[in-house]
Amino acid sequence: MAAVTIERIEAIPLRIPFDHWAPPPLYAGRPRTTLDTLLVRVTTNRGLIGWGEAFGGTWPATVAALDTWVTPLVLGQDATDPRIAARLERTLHNLGRSGPVMHAISGLDIALWDLRGKMEGVPVHALLGGKRRNQVPAYASLLQYYNDLGLIRTNVARALDRGYRQIKLHERTPEAVAATREVTGPGIPIMVDTNCAWTPDTVTEAVLSMAPSKPLWVEEPIWPPEDFASLAVLRQATGIPMAIGENATGTLDFEKMIAAKAVDYVQPSATKIGGLTPLWQIATHAEAHGVTCVPHAAYFGPGYLATLHALAAKPKESAIERFFCDLGLMPYAATVPVINGWVQVPDGPGLGAEPELELLERFRA
Ligand SMILES: [Mg+2]
Repeated sequence: MAAVTIERIEAIPLRIPFDHWAPPPLYAGRPRTTLDTLLVRVTTNRGLIGWGEAFGGTWPATVAALDTWVTPLVLGQDATDPRIAARLERTLHNLGRSGPVMHAISGLDIALWDLRGKMEGVPVHALLGGKRRNQVPAYASLLQYYNDLGLIRTNVARALDRGYRQIKLHERTPEAVAATREVTGPGIPIMVDTNCAWTPDTVTEAVLSMAPSKPLWVEEPIWPPEDFASLAVLRQATGIPMAIGENATGTLDFEKMIAAKAVDYVQPSATKIGGLTPLWQIATHAEAHGVTCVPHAAYFGPGYLATLHALAAKPKESAIERFFCDLGLMPYAATVPVINGWVQVPDGPGLGAEPELELLERFRA
């Protein structure tokens, strides 16, 4: 049979308005009024389409990286070759080991997993060795409310109302975590994402002050995030579990943070780290070393679905991240819904769901 080759790669940026029941939060130094993402559509010479997703925060630069560097190298290649993304990473390494080029490769890698599943007629989780569970819990990842305890209480209650049984905050104070604990009661895991809030000299006191509220983990407490030695000291000093990884570079960073005893939960991001291929390698390595993989998934497209398949197939059950907001149109609301805080694992070929035409038409940037 003649080879199935990559014939076309298109970048489709989406800017989706969202409501998190508060004024716009800041993102990269500006008020954020839309959740942006970059879909990557790969078409084969047989007309089959695979969908990927690249990290949305960098999308204008990522479109340029895809069109200028990535696409010319892969047109005409065998679409079933699982080594394409790894080869690209090596060929393009001097253009940046993380950032837009890696985000573009991530989107392509995810689309190729979708294509491989569709060509074999199996779900992506089957390509990962098979699902170990039919549904995955989701956690409500609240956006930042800047220590407004009223907004925090209201939105924690809203998340519980909608069925979520795990809550993550993007806050930095003991009062914010305590207010959340008051609303949830003792049985609900609370995670605290601080987005690199402190330097090593001030971090211990800040993190210890949250201990009475019993966070399941504290996420990215230290700037810069690659300071694994200081994170290991903090983890030892506080006894509080640590999570990190959405800003890591490559699989080796994860091996280093685990070897440094800096981390309890690793958080590779499928749309940033190079796609599902490295995410799966990181999850496998971490869980063989007693560390749980709870991927970063602050997006709703094919990257989210790829993460869901990995969470279905990996040894340990862990929750998938859901940004807690209402979108102008929620992708996969009908095909892969979140029901009472649980996501059913799709069993259709490839990623198991297609982006809605209405989504592409209404929110294309
Ligand atoms: Mg985070």
